[in-house]
Amino acid sequence: MSRRDLHDVAVVGGGVVGAACALALAGQGLDVCLLEATQPAPWSAADPDLRVYALAPDNAALLDALDAWRPVRATRAQPYRRMQVWDAGGGDALCFDADALARRELGWIVEHGLLVDVLWRALRHSTVRVRCPARVEAMEQDDDGVRLRLDDGVRVAARIAIAADGAASRLRTLAGIGVDGRDYAQRGVVGYVQTERPHEDTAWQRFLPSGPLALLPWVDGRCSIVWTLPNDEAARVLALGDHDFGRELTAAFDARLGTVVPASRRVAFPLQRQLSATQQAGRVLVVGDAAHAVHPLAGQGVNLGLRDVAALRALVTDARGRRVDWDSPHRLARWARTRRSENAVAAHAFEGINRLFSNDGVASTLLRGHLLGIAGRLPPVLDALWRRAAGT
Ligand SMILES: Cc1cc2nc3c(=O)[nH]c(=O)nc-3n(C[C@H](O)[C@H](O)[C@H](O)COP(=O)(O)OP(=O)(O)OC[C@H]3O[C@@H](n4cnc5c(N)ncnc54)[C@H](O)[C@@H]3O)c2cc1C
Repeated sequence: MSRRDLHDVAVVGGGVVGAACALALAGQGLDVCLLEATQPAPWSAADPDLRVYALAPDNAALLDALDAWRPVRATRAQPYRRMQVWDAGGGDALCFDADALARRELGWIVEHGLLVDVLWRALRHSTVRVRCPARVEAMEQDDDGVRLRLDDGVRVAARIAIAADGAASRLRTLAGIGVDGRDYAQRGVVGYVQTERPHEDTAWQRFLPSGPLALLPWVDGRCSIVWTLPNDEAARVLALGDHDFGRELTAAFDARLGTVVPASRRVAFPLQRQLSATQQAGRVLVVGDAAHAVHPLAGQGVNLGLRDVAALRALVTDARGRRVDWDSPHRLARWARTRRSENAVAAHAFEGINRLFSNDGVASTLLRGHLLGIAGRLPPVLDALWRRAAGT
């Protein structure tokens, strides 16, 4: 294989994390190719994506550096300025307020489809070589690089390969990296709703014994819901007519924003915690859901993946500044250790919170009401919690 056929980086998977990763590394002057199995569906303003993310400020800054944030903001992104978390069993609410934290907003609610659409438009104007549809089927590696075989027989070689191919990652499996997983036997029911009272630019979350219910502020006064329920309950509420669904949702939310009426179709997605044993095997790195799928209760799913990318971008910038190899084994290993440890702490913390709150035992009910109240009354705790969620 001639040097011209050898890329610096092959990114496998062009979801939000893979596309951002390809752009970030190409922006550092690396020769990057992106391999994606399925052409993304075009985003349509008239048909909002039901999958939305609460994007944290550090990740908005990353997207801005990739020229992808302004188009998203100009098209459709809803800032949220407050966050309120409370337990159905009683006790105080935990509140975050942008004013108190000297910020204009705490983050933005953005659609998955719009993010992918904008990132793929940025890819078209970048030096990234995109191959789509292209499904990675086989991989071999040695000390110098990685060779990938695609489903059409084409071979692609690179100094490193990055698995950004989602929770069922093929490249992670080919690299021999195992996963530790837990199926929560819960589903997240998502959709848009209209509330009787204004959402006040607030991300609301009520913990119920069946799981957390979040109402996230959305444009035109609507809210996006993420309603965590045991599998059979999720199937039951999905099958309800609009009137009954709205009635049950209003009750589950304790009518905090008055009557809630469905304003879109709704779907449910399975919830799991899955952590890869490591984020590196030789010259294969693992990012995004391929490395960590987490409970959506803290809205951190895609945020953690983008932080993998930001750390990788920082690694390359730092190595270039020092005129040393950006892909030396010890640098890649240090990136993987740091990211694995942060992602494992986050995944287990969300799992612990989900377990404590999805439970109507007397002790748990008393404990969580007190915990939220205590945290809410201690500014340093609030500040630390916020910094962790915001990546600042
Ligand atoms: C239905 C659904 C709803 C969700 N809702 C929320 C939510 O409300 N809030 C939240 O925070 N998180 C949510 N999540 C989780 C969130 O979507 C993920 O955290 C995020 O998409 C991870 O991004 P990613 O780029 O790592 O992986 P993915 O988005 O899974 O992207 C992986 C990409 O790799 C491609 N690919 C796969 N295999 C191959 C291969 N062999 N070769 C080449 N390409 C391949 C796929 O086509 C895909 O484009 C939801 C997930 C799902 C499935």
